[in-house]
Amino acid sequence: MDDIKRRDPRKEHILRNRLHPQYDEMAVDHDLLMSGGTNRKNPHKQGYLSAEGIKRIDRSGAAVAAAGVAKKQQEQSLPLRAIVNPSHYIVVFSDSDSAKLTVLDKDMLGLAHSLADGGTAVVMINLHNREDDLASAGADRALTLDAANYSPDNWLAILQTIDTELSPKHWIFADDTLVGGDLARRLAASLGVRPVTRGNLYAEGTLNCGGGDASKSVNRKLSRILLVEEQVADPIAGFITEASSLDVTEVAGVIPKVTDLGGVAVDPADIPLAETRFILSGGNGIRNWALFHQCAQALGATEGASRVAVDNGHMPRTTQVGATGTYVNAKIYIAVGISGAIQHLQGMTTCETVIALNTDANCEMIKRADLSIIADSSEVMQALVDATFGGKGELDDVG
Ligand SMILES: Cc1cc2nc3c(=O)[nH]c(=O)nc-3n(C[C@H](O)[C@H](O)[C@H](O)COP(=O)(O)OP(=O)(O)OC[C@H]3O[C@@H](n4cnc5c(N)ncnc54)[C@H](O)[C@@H]3O)c2cc1C
Repeated sequence: MDDIKRRDPRKEHILRNRLHPQYDEMAVDHDLLMSGGTNRKNPHKQGYLSAEGIKRIDRSGAAVAAAGVAKKQQEQSLPLRAIVNPSHYIVVFSDSDSAKLTVLDKDMLGLAHSLADGGTAVVMINLHNREDDLASAGADRALTLDAANYSPDNWLAILQTIDTELSPKHWIFADDTLVGGDLARRLAASLGVRPVTRGNLYAEGTLNCGGGDASKSVNRKLSRILLVEEQVADPIAGFITEASSLDVTEVAGVIPKVTDLGGVAVDPADIPLAETRFILSGGNGIRNWALFHQCAQALGATEGASRVAVDNGHMPRTTQVGATGTYVNAKIYIAVGISGAIQHLQGMTTCETVIALNTDANCEMIKRADLSIIADSSEVMQALVDATFGGKGELDDVG
């Protein structure tokens, strides 16, 4: 017998008719041999046959939920690897901010198990509570750090405490530019360990690692600190682990050298136009520029402008919004006396909420706006300033 797949015209005929009594039996296999010898997904596979014999797609999520329950039951029937009194530890640090384990997380746990002997417990440090996933991915112990309290010094101190308490045989980190890669290097420097970096394949006690040139690689002996990439090892299979909480004393309560003092008030005029979240933008329909500046100050908005306002010398070139100015990304963009020429609109496409103030109800800016005010610019700006300062006294000097 050769390996050539041959067409089965009868099977294909049945598979074209979803009401054929033998359809379900034949369609068990997702991959159907189509003409040209290409394997393709069966689009009719999803859904179920109703009592009336009509194919229905399950949009309630019940089928997906049932598949999840079945997977869980299958996992629970796997043998449990329980390590009561670990002789050694291997610590895996996951810096992913996803609530689910990533492919790399599972590969790192797989690597840890390749390096672990019978009495070694694999500890996983997470930034999320991932109880659901950890047992099937191979974490014997788990510790969750609060991502909101991230400070490099504080977390390094926590890792040092864990290192003192557990003396792990290996630390495994993702070699990335996120928290893990940085922490791994800090930890290596503080422990005086030369880490193995860019490990991409574990085999027979060595790690194959990326070289300086992308086309080269080197085999390195293992170190205590390993920084690895996806597919470094296969995820575990055939057993589950306890994933119980790690009991390490004093992992919290380390005094960080960096203290978060909270937000600091910033003058909106100092925020770069491309980064600010609130813009009051003025165009050719502004009759009173002093009032415009007062209004921006009263609202706490960063000032923007149309090209005409800039060309006419009312506003500096740095404030121009649009194709030949700055592309802005504000949460709120108030366009006062701006017609909405295509070149201006191009610069503000990603603004979340646009408010237009214009005397022309048919102009393009009004069409783009989420909220429109058809009125004279000076009248409305005056009302805004009055509402903020609580009276006209503040505006006596406005011309
Ligand atoms: C190559 C090229 C690049 C360009 N790049 C840019 C760019 O990056 N950014 C940019 O902005 N433009 C750019 N432009 C210019 C653009 O085409 C428009 O000419 C410009 O945006 C118009 O500015 P404006 O809306 O302020 O003025 P106008 O088009 O004159 O509109 C003024 C608006 O104010 C309203 N108005 C008048 N009086 C009042 C009042 N009292 N109260 C309220 N509303 C009033 C009017 O109804 C009108 O809608 C570019 C043009 C070219 C050719």
